[in-house]
Amino acid sequence: MQLRYNFRVYPDTAQCEALARSFGCARVVFNDGLRLRRQARENGEKYVSDAELSRRLITEAKQTPERAWLGEVSSVVLQQALADLNTAYRNFFASITGKRKGRKVAPPRYRSRKDNRQAIRFTKNSRFKVLDNGRLRLPKIGDVPVRWSRSLPSDPSSVAIIKDAAGRYFASFVVTIGQDETLPPTDSEVGIDLGLTHFAVLSDGTKVAAPKFLRRAARKLKRLQQALARKTKGSANRKKAVVKVARAHARVADTRRDWQHKLSTMLIRDNQAVYVEDLCVVGLGRTRLAKSVHDAGWASFTGMLEYKAARYGRTFARVDRFFPSTRMCSACGRINDKMALDVRAWDCPCGSHHDRDVNAAINVLAAGQADNSNDRGAQVRPGLVPAPRGEAVTHPNPACSTRSVEGISVL
Ligand SMILES: [Zn+2]
Repeated sequence: MQLRYNFRVYPDTAQCEALARSFGCARVVFNDGLRLRRQARENGEKYVSDAELSRRLITEAKQTPERAWLGEVSSVVLQQALADLNTAYRNFFASITGKRKGRKVAPPRYRSRKDNRQAIRFTKNSRFKVLDNGRLRLPKIGDVPVRWSRSLPSDPSSVAIIKDAAGRYFASFVVTIGQDETLPPTDSEVGIDLGLTHFAVLSDGTKVAAPKFLRRAARKLKRLQQALARKTKGSANRKKAVVKVARAHARVADTRRDWQHKLSTMLIRDNQAVYVEDLCVVGLGRTRLAKSVHDAGWASFTGMLEYKAARYGRTFARVDRFFPSTRMCSACGRINDKMALDVRAWDCPCGSHHDRDVNAAINVLAAGQADNSNDRGAQVRPGLVPAPRGEAVTHPNPACSTRSVEGISVL
């Protein structure tokens, strides 16, 4: 299994300039590739192959006066920019032909110097190296200081350097983990109802609210955004406000991620199997519940549960979202009438009294267990999971400083 490990890095002024140059060159090569393929398509020519793209836009382009400056940066960075473009095209093609499930993938777009996030990637070929003094040696950039919040479990296969909207730099390493991290088995299994009144309600009756500090940070962010909206376009004060908002945003994202890591690690450690209702977050995202849904960050949370389950030999499953978890009585199985969102507790004709969310979580657990026993033969152990969602190779999350969490030794 491949995992990402993210650390803050602190390049000096010269290194920042070298990084800016690399970001720029990677962007130019990416855009050149996109333009070439678009033109070929408009002219009715065939799709320009990956190899031809690399030859024309890197090897040959460096010989021309217009693109000679591409020689100033590591060629691996340029090749990886084209690799990103190739992946974007492949995902797009797979999406339109139906080979790729889920949301439709849009065709690749041009990158802009104004993008909030700039990134480059170095692979093994580039000979990047973690030095004994703790610095990260990057070809044509230099030895960059890293804040190591934990140690890398093995040799990284690649590293992306990311600059986020708040002007911070991160190194995001991809590390391959062996399958020897299975936790000792436990009898406990849990169903989780993700909700709006509580972040999560567990089938054992535990209710987990989003922590106060997170809500406070979100309020502060909102205030800064309002302040930004009042600033005149193009003014120096607006620029300052933009940075402030970006910083606050990054802080909220970091805090939420840390908290979710802590919660998901606890759930995976304490339970042999974890089941959640497969909420259609994309669908909900368009309704008026959108804001609170996005604030809740369910998708990133269930993504964490999924990869941690795979990593530690636990079972994780999403149960069918069309299953009526809320109005089905967990005692007798009767499906009752729909109820409004503000109904927090209800009585079933069978005589059971239910807390709405706890009842739902118990149903999720039962449904998950039923599904799981049906295909137990097929899936004795969860399969390998790639780098976690939202932290994948092509779109690493800029603000992803995975700090060590108090009292939890891993992740
Ligand atoms: Zn009942």
